[in-house]
Parts: sequence; structure tokens; C-alpha cells
Amino acid sequence: MSRYPRYDILFEPVKIGPKTARNRFYQVPHCNGMGHRYPSSLAAMRGVKAEGGWAVVSTEEVEIHPSTDVTPYNEGRLWDDRDMPYHKHVVDAIHAHNSLAAIELTHSGHHAYNGYSREPALGVVDEPIVDPLPVYARAMDRSDIKAFRKWHRDAALRARDCGYDLIYIYCGHGLDVRQQFLSRRFNTRSDEYGGSLENRVRLLRETMEDTLEAVGHDCAVPIRFAVDEMMGEDGLTCENEGRDVVEMLAEMPDLWDVNVSDWDNDSLTSRFGDSGFQDAFTGFVKQVTSKPVVGVGRYTSPDAMVSLIKRGALDMIGAARPSIADPFLPKKIEEGRIEDIRECIGCNICVTGDMTAVPIRCTQNPTMGEEWRRDWHPERIAAKGSDANVLVIGGGPAGLEAARALGQRGYETVLAEAGASLGGRVNRESGLPGLTQWGRVRDYREYQIQQMGAVETYLESRLSVDDVLGFGARHIAVATGASWRRDTIGRTHKYSLPGLNEARVFCPDDIMDGVQLEGTALVYDDEHFYMGGLVAEALVKQGVAVTLVTTASEVSSFTHNTLEQHRIQKTLLEMGVEIVTTHSLSSLSAGHVRIACGYTGREKEIAAENVVLVTAMTPSATLYKELQARQEDWGDAGIQSVTAIGDCLAPGTIAAAVWSGHRYARTLDAPEQEGVWFKREIVGV
Ligand code: ADP
Ligand code: SF4
Repeated sequence: MSRYPRYDILFEPVKIGPKTARNRFYQVPHCNGMGHRYPSSLAAMRGVKAEGGWAVVSTEEVEIHPSTDVTPYNEGRLWDDRDMPYHKHVVDAIHAHNSLAAIELTHSGHHAYNGYSREPALGVVDEPIVDPLPVYARAMDRSDIKAFRKWHRDAALRARDCGYDLIYIYCGHGLDVRQQFLSRRFNTRSDEYGGSLENRVRLLRETMEDTLEAVGHDCAVPIRFAVDEMMGEDGLTCENEGRDVVEMLAEMPDLWDVNVSDWDNDSLTSRFGDSGFQDAFTGFVKQVTSKPVVGVGRYTSPDAMVSLIKRGALDMIGAARPSIADPFLPKKIEEGRIEDIRECIGCNICVTGDMTAVPIRCTQNPTMGEEWRRDWHPERIAAKGSDANVLVIGGGPAGLEAARALGQRGYETVLAEAGASLGGRVNRESGLPGLTQWGRVRDYREYQIQQMGAVETYLESRLSVDDVLGFGARHIAVATGASWRRDTIGRTHKYSLPGLNEARVFCPDDIMDGVQLEGTALVYDDEHFYMGGLVAEALVKQGVAVTLVTTASEVSSFTHNTLEQHRIQKTLLEMGVEIVTTHSLSSLSAGHVRIACGYTGREKEIAAENVVLVTAMTPSATLYKELQARQEDWGDAGIQSVTAIGDCLAPGTIAAAVWSGHRYARTLDAPEQEGVWFKREIVGV
């Protein structure tokens, strides 16, 4: 039970078929960029979730056969018995903390490229696969369907023998063949698996029957179902066939895990939607079934969770991202440590790991993905290794996280910030359209630091090299950040372009600092993450007519990896932003710029009273360099080390800055390590 009785309801057990979850916290399946390639890392990460109090901890999607090989993405794999030891390892890590282990068995159908297995892809009909590759899926005939049912049944039996407690029937995110069969827009078959909804749902029903029959006595069999594909009448909606399917299968599964589809809708970023936005779509499910219902919505507030349970919207609080940002969220609620929750900011940096096939990372939780290979626990950290005191210069995400973790270790730490408030770039960026929740990166750390006797904070304290030498700290962490360039140098140009001094030139720092423009502006995006699109949006909101020129073939192209690109381009187009792709700047002049086609070099002129360069960040490392230049004075000043961290070392994401600050704090006074000092997944080692 919780320290606060009003949260007791969240800690009631829930019966799921033959199993009982010890509370209502349910980590739904989520990808993590580790999958079958990094088994020890994955098991440790899932184990930490269980330790943090999630009563059910699920895998990511798990391929059941070589015909659903989603290489190069790193997902789970249970093709045959040889994959079982890996899964047993995951299950053991979850069971070690008395949580239930759930597995999401998947066949990706026309989403599987099969690049590794080289099996022909399978689909509902003959069609190109979804990814733009020269690969076609062939329509599954009766023997393929029979084979698929056997693969699924065999995988379910193996999963049971690995110790999984819940064995999913997956029908969501557009990523499973059963959802593809269900969908009118894909399924134009004329056999008993096409046509009426009864026919289109057949494969889903059959695999559920098979699974219940094979493992239903030993394991719970939940369904993960997208009730709405968010595309109106072209797809399933919660008012027509999405609802009909729930009614048809209402009492069959042991639990309904419901959401919206595709993944970009389910994992909507905070820039485009609020926490709880799915309630309007999934709310009906509990009226239709007596089985427990799980739903997601980036829930981090225990009061909102209690309200969902009390008003009968959900039985269990599902979470992927909130459990990544804070694996100990349930424990903290149980112990009444609400202020200690590290709330997800909805940025989808976690998704970029999966999308770029590298282990997961998280803006709020620098230990995510590092549990095994670096032995980083999200809550525990080694006590300080000496009585040294530390001066952290700069209160952005790197400095804040360094100071917080140093304080946690017990180091006497001073955090000096030049500005009037803590937060650095987080303050500035969270003022951009839709990014308010990013402020949680600052809020969590500022609160934690305030609670620590070991950390003192000084605002409006811009330190010079002499200030630092006279300070009396043994270790200095320089976290002075980075600034946006104003000289056209970036990915494309390694030199300043002609006419730079004639034009009215700005950079994102100016816009974030509140500079108001008038008339027309050309936003030049040579960086390709979120900043170019956001600056354009902010300027339109100021009443400026904006042309966005980008060297990429789309606006904010890296945001494909945060599942946002199409929303950003749509927003800008709807706001009236003129978009010019695959062009670079070639020269500037008062009132005009010339741009050149990336292929032909052909130039054209665009009228623009203002130019905003979103080209590159450059480290604000003057203080660091000055300190390095004064090394002969360190001895007298009692200084043992001076280290640049965060954007001052190398500009990047906020997640990278937080991680850098955390690494500094973790490794201070650790013995010098040579070579690769994190564990790697090497056979035989
Ligand atoms: P990071 O992302 O690496 O944390 P930020 O740019 O967000 O970097 O933050 C850097 C912070 O450092 C800013 O808040 C800035 O005001 C502060 N800062 C820069 N130079 C100094 C200095 N000489 N003394 C104290 N604070 C500084
Ligand atoms: Fe949340 Fe961002 Fe962390 Fe993902 S990376 S869990 S969206 S804070």
C-alpha cells in the first residue's frame, strides 16, 4: 500500500487470467534498439523496471519466424529453440523482482524486409512492402496461413517454457500481419479471410484460439489492439470497426491492452499532443468487456492515474515512455516520493535508438540502456571516492545533471550559473512552440538539488578564469554550453558566404531570446533536427512571412526518428510557410539571398528582409580553453582536474548533455580505465 492512502487503489492486485499482477502498473511492450543483439543489456534494463515496481514488464515485439525478420532493427527473436536461453535470461531478470513477464509475439507481414533471412515477405495480398525497398510481399495462401498459425503456436509454447507469464496476441501499430488482414485498405482478398469484418478478423481470432488452447492454462493471453488507426473512414475507428472487433472478441483474451495506431500516433510527442490524449479513443473498451483493460497516455501524475481507475476508464496504467524516463515511478508513488518522479518530457529521443538501430537512450534518464554495460542504476550511485569538492560551471542540462549526481554521491558541490535561473538551453528551447514539457529536464534536477545539503547553487555568477583559479575547488566541470553559429558554416559550407555582413542575419538563439522580426524571413536549415521547423513556426506566430530553405529533401528530416517529420511538414505547410528543399545558400545581400540547387547548382534569388541561420552549434569553450592554458597555476589553486562536459565539449542533443553530466559525476575519482571501459556483448567473454 502507498504512503498516501489516496494512491492505495494503484497498488491493488489485478487478476489477469491465471496470473495475478501485484499492482496496477503495467510496462507495455516497447522497442529499445537492443533486442536480440544486446541480450544482457536488455535483460538488465527489464529487470530494473521490475525492481522499480512495474507489476508487468513486457518485451518489445518478438519475431516468431525468419519470414518476419525486421533487420536492421534490433527487435526480439524467438525463431526456434536456440533463442530460448536469451529469453529465459530476460524472464529471470523480471521474476527476480516478483513481476510478471509478458512477451509480444509478432509477425510483421508486409512490414518485414527479411534482409537477413532472405525469406520472401508475406502479406495479405501481393504488394510492395511498406519500407521503400525493392521487396515485394506475396499474398499468404491457405498453406501459408496454416504455417503462420503453427509458427505462432510453437512460439507461444516456447515462450511459456521460457517462463513468460503473459503471451500477447499482437494487433497494433500497423506492425502485425493480423492488423493488416483486419484493415479494409490492405485486405482486398476474396477468400474466407477477406471481405466481411467476420472474415478479416478470422486470422486474429484463430491465433487467439490457438494460443489459448496451447498455453491458456499456464499463461495469461492478452491482446494488444489498436482501436483506431486515426485516418477516419480509411482505417479502423473506435466508432465503427475498431469497436466492432472489441465487441466480437470481448471475453476471449485475458486482458485488453488498447491504444491507437500507427506508432507515431501511439507515441505522440508532447509537441503534438497532451498526456492522456488516447482516452477519447480507448475509453469505450471497458464498457464492452469484463476483462482488465490497460491503456497508455504518457501518464506520470498519480492523481491522473487514480482518476482513470476510479472513473472506470482503465484497470491498469500502461506505460512505455514514463517507465523509460523513470523505471522507479511505481516505487516512488508507493513511498509517497511524488516530487522525485523523473517525468517523461515526450521528446521521443528514446525512439531514435530503435529507429537508428542502436541501444535506447532517454533525455530524462541517462542510465537507460546503461544498466548492464556500465552498471548504472537509475536510483543508486556509488558514494564519493574522496573528500574533494567540485565546482560545476553552467546550469544547463549537463551542469544540472552533474551537480545532481555529484550531490547524490555526497560530493560538496558548487553550481555556478551566469544567468538568473537554472536550465540553460532547456529554458530557451522549452519556450518554442509545443515544447513546454521539456522544462521538466530542469524542474526535476533543480528540485533534487534544492533538497541536497551537499550542493550549493549560485545564480548570476559568470565566472572568469581568475574566479575559478581563486575558488578553491579540486575538480572543475565546465558546462558552459554552446551557441548557434551566425556565419553560414555548417554541414554544407565550411566557410562564410559572400554578403554575410550586408544581410540582417539572426540565429536560433536570437529567436529564443525573444527577438521580434518583421516582414519576411528566410529560415535556412542545414542542421535537420527540430530547430529549423520550430524557428519557422515561431516566426509565423510573430506575423512574419517565412520561406524555409533546407539542404535536405524534407523539413526537419531527422525527426523521422522521433516519429514527427510528417506532422512538422504538415504544420508548416498549413501555416503558409514556403518550403524549398535540396537547396543551399550561396550568397546573401540586403533584402535578398541566392540559393543553389543541391543537384544542378542552378541558382535563384529569394527576397527576404531577414535571414535566420539554423546551421550548427559551436561550443562555448573559451573559459575551458583559458583554464587549460593556465595549467601551471592549477597546483597553487589546488585544482586536480578541469573537464569540459555537455555541449561545451561537443554540441548535440539535450539527452547527450544530460548523459555527459551524468558520466562525469559517475566516474569522478574512479580508477583510470584504458581501452573500451564498458562491457560489450561478445560471445565467449
Ligand atoms: P549544456 O547543454 O551543455 O548543459 P547549456 O547551453 O544548456 O549547456 O548551458 C550552459 C550554461 O552555462 C548556460 O546557462 C550559461 O548561462 C552558463 N554559463 C556560460 N558561461 C558561464 C560562466 N563563465 N560562468 C557561469 N555560467 C556560465
Ligand atoms: Fe520520455 Fe524523451 Fe525519455 Fe522518451 S526520451 S522516455 S520521450 S523523456
